[in-house]
Amino acid sequence: LAGVSEVRVALMADKVQRSIVAIGSGKGGVGKSTLTANLAVALARAGHKVGVVDADIYGPSQPMLLDAANQKPTAEGQQLIPVESEFGVKLLSMGQLIAPGKAIAWRGPMTGNALGQLMDAQWGDAEVLLVDLPPGTGDVQLTMLQKFKPSGAIVVSTPQDLALIDATRAIDLFRQADIPIIGLVENMAGYLCPHCGQPSEPFGSGGAEAAARALGEDFLGRIPLAMEIRVASDTGQPPAASDGPQGKGFADIAARLSD
Ligand code: ADP
Repeated sequence: LAGVSEVRVALMADKVQRSIVAIGSGKGGVGKSTLTANLAVALARAGHKVGVVDADIYGPSQPMLLDAANQKPTAEGQQLIPVESEFGVKLLSMGQLIAPGKAIAWRGPMTGNALGQLMDAQWGDAEVLLVDLPPGTGDVQLTMLQKFKPSGAIVVSTPQDLALIDATRAIDLFRQADIPIIGLVENMAGYLCPHCGQPSEPFGSGGAEAAARALGEDFLGRIPLAMEIRVASDTGQPPAASDGPQGKGFADIAARLSD
């Protein structure tokens, strides 16, 4: 009998209602990975069970962002077991499936298989999986949308026109696949000079909010361009893990997601 109830518990664990949230951008370098890591940490701090799937095969940066580069996932049979980062977030990354520093020249089916291994891993009690997609609208995105049907998508952009045009394309891809858009996030909006204290706007400001309005989508919030965010990210200390001012923007967006 003890055996039977163990099986039942295992079956129930498999049936955890899990939402999959895809985080995409039209182009690289706009802060999609930084947002994913910090949203995950902010959601975990708010009491949610969170997993991060780093599907960005061209720049898998979640192991560094979540200070888990030295942790290697194990496997049970064919199924991968995510690592548990010190921030209470589970993680699997394309970066953990390949040798560090190696360029990936995979064709579509291989990226699809790798994505499948990450998605079908033992996510246990995770209620939400945040998926850091590669930039643009390629093979991994298509497999993600068609095979794993995310419950929603967040699109990140800088306020710059060029980035916004690309972001609009990313939104179009999600719409075509009938994935609800949760909203747009504007990153690198406004810079406060640490020397003179003057604010400036290297990539402009307000563009993503205006684009969201024009497209009839929600605007989730704005994260400033800040040296502290870059330095903290490079050292595996996500700003959202502490109560400092740089973490607040991420926490506010996380709070909107849990509404
Ligand atoms: P993507 O995933 O879109 O390619 P990343 O999250 O890797 O972008 O960010 C690209 C670079 O910009 C990284 O060096 C990151 O630390 C930095 N960065 C991202 N967002 C900010 C920000 N708000 N302020 C300062 N630096 C940032």
